[in-house]
Amino acid sequence: MIGNYINGNHINKNHSSKFIDIYDPSKGESVDKVILSNKKDFDDVMQSSKNAFISWSSETPLKRSRVLQKYKYILEKNIETLAKIISTEHGKTLDDAKGSVIRGLEVVEFAIGIPHLLKGEFSQNVGSNIDSWSIRQPLGVTAGITPFNFPAMVPMWMYPISIACGNTFILKPSEKDPSCSIKLAELFSEAGLPDGVLNVINGDKEVVNLILNSHDVSSVSFVGSTPVAKYIYESSAKTGKRVQALGGAKNHLVVMPDANLDQAVDGIIGAAYGSAGERCMAVSVAVAVGDIADKLVDNINKKAEPLIVAPWTDSSSQMGPVISEEHKNKIEDYIQSGLDEGAKLVLDGRDLKIQGYENGYFVGPTLFDNVKKDMKIYNEEIFGPVLCVIRARNYDEALNLVNNHAFGNGTSIYTSDGEVSRHFTTNCKIGMVGVNVPIPVPMAFHSFGGWKQSLFGDHSMHGTEGVRFYTKLKTVTSRWPNSIKKGPEFKMPTN
Ligand code: NAD
Repeated sequence: MIGNYINGNHINKNHSSKFIDIYDPSKGESVDKVILSNKKDFDDVMQSSKNAFISWSSETPLKRSRVLQKYKYILEKNIETLAKIISTEHGKTLDDAKGSVIRGLEVVEFAIGIPHLLKGEFSQNVGSNIDSWSIRQPLGVTAGITPFNFPAMVPMWMYPISIACGNTFILKPSEKDPSCSIKLAELFSEAGLPDGVLNVINGDKEVVNLILNSHDVSSVSFVGSTPVAKYIYESSAKTGKRVQALGGAKNHLVVMPDANLDQAVDGIIGAAYGSAGERCMAVSVAVAVGDIADKLVDNINKKAEPLIVAPWTDSSSQMGPVISEEHKNKIEDYIQSGLDEGAKLVLDGRDLKIQGYENGYFVGPTLFDNVKKDMKIYNEEIFGPVLCVIRARNYDEALNLVNNHAFGNGTSIYTSDGEVSRHFTTNCKIGMVGVNVPIPVPMAFHSFGGWKQSLFGDHSMHGTEGVRFYTKLKTVTSRWPNSIKKGPEFKMPTN
């Protein structure tokens, strides 16, 4: 039974006695259970987080940084362990899981620089003998609610920076693969993090609502689907919380007629089918511009068809299962709807059976050509290994497709023309943009976030945006008694 991690302790009994199964998606079998916490569990977490904030926020940034430095080394030693936990509950290949842990670890490396990152601004003599400076102070108890698809990386976009800034953090991971979060918190304790600075509470929307309604939580960081992101944003506003809520995506990769076709195809294959398409930066739409379309579809098909779909325990696996039976059925319904609406199904990943893993939630690589912009498979996020090719007559038409789509997480263009690429990066209405790079995920020292229906709130995650999100700005104006002129002043002071 997977419980909570509160005040440095594994709490395997909860007050509600409710739990749900966790599945190994490769086998379609329950491997464990996770508790669904209730109000009493949440109260225990909150008390611990509030208490820990008092001393943690008054530690010097350098001391906080040193705990993070130790954490970095401990994480490095545990990459394999963490990756195995991820692969077992999520299903992604071991190499992919390792890569995701490393991308999270890079945020820890960034957060180690917190003494520098918290430096404010100073102006001497803003008025006669008056100095002014700004400082950034922690918010208090902060919270993060995370999705199933990156059980290490997404939480690590949040808590290392929040904690480095002097906050305490309550993590509510996805109930589909919660074990990794517990391990991450346990390792942080091993690095010397005081009890209660990072607590993990497991559960479903009941716990999410407790977080949202609590006046003791100062900020909510959310990553997940768009309807929930919107709900989180609106509900958090009611209790005056800071909120960053990252939602779903439908990332377009534009292939211009002058693109290096082989590079574009390789880029698309990895980005569309890697992690079974369950990445918010997966490429789910390829926009074929002009006469490159036939060759592009043909070459994608040739490379997608032989991809090795297998459980993570098979080291040759290039693509694992999707997260649940329900999700597999949903993806297959989308494939049927594409057919019903008249798209051309070039490669069909349904009905894939893997010997020895007949009950696993596998969907093979799927490719649609001649997708139109009014189709459901084009407009909605499928979150599976389904690539839609849409044909555009020219660059302007391709750019309009990118800009008129409701989602705005990532996009990319493959071209050899610098002018076209510059026009694209300047004019696309998307948060993260690649040029001849299929998945333009920003590094930890830049910030991650989309536009439109892919992000609600004002701040992206990690990088300096993360530091701003997790701190309040204070500006001090000061002069000393001997320099003060006698008598009150009734007009606005000017220089
Ligand atoms: P999800 O929205 O179903 O769940 C995310 C979190 O919200 C979980 O912790 C879950 O317990 C909670 N939750 C679910 N339903 C809720 C409800 N009705 N009320 C309150 N809380 C609720 O998302 P998921 O299926 O776990 O993850 C996949 C989604 O996440 C995809 O849409 C994907 O694009 C998105 N995602 C986005 C990014 C990004 O950076 N934009 C990154 C990763 C994943």
